[in-house]
Amino acid sequence: MTDCVFCRIIRREIPANIVLETEKVLAFHDINPEAPTHVLVIPKKHIANIRDEKLSTDPDLTTEIFQAIQKITSDLGLAEDGFRVVVNCGENAGETVHHLHFHLLGGRELTWPPG
Ligand code: AMP
Ligand code: ZN
Repeated sequence: MTDCVFCRIIRREIPANIVLETEKVLAFHDINPEAPTHVLVIPKKHIANIRDEKLSTDPDLTTEIFQAIQKITSDLGLAEDGFRVVVNCGENAGETVHHLHFHLLGGRELTWPPG
């Protein structure tokens, strides 16, 4: 998608601090981190949100997303103390970028329930 900010990151039209790239997945640090470590894991094809059928009908992609989450949380040292994975969907959840992204948040104690 031409004007999607995450598609522009994938095309290297805007910079990002990339932590992992695979055939179908890109992961980079959030520009406005809500925790000491805040990484976004995204599909490299434009998928609007977690309810998009382009996600649920692509098992290779879902596998790669979860492999990326496991690798990044190991590589960045989040696994031992714990971390949170968040997907915001829709207005009530505060979704602002309409390209599917998994937030990985860690490096501090995270409160529950979320606000
Ligand atoms: P959400 O509110 O769940 O849609 O999350 C969107 C996230 O994308 C926010 O945490 C933003 O800080 C982050 N974000 C927006 N633009 C960029 C960018 N250019 N590089 C990295 N992260 C971004
Ligand atoms: Zn996009």
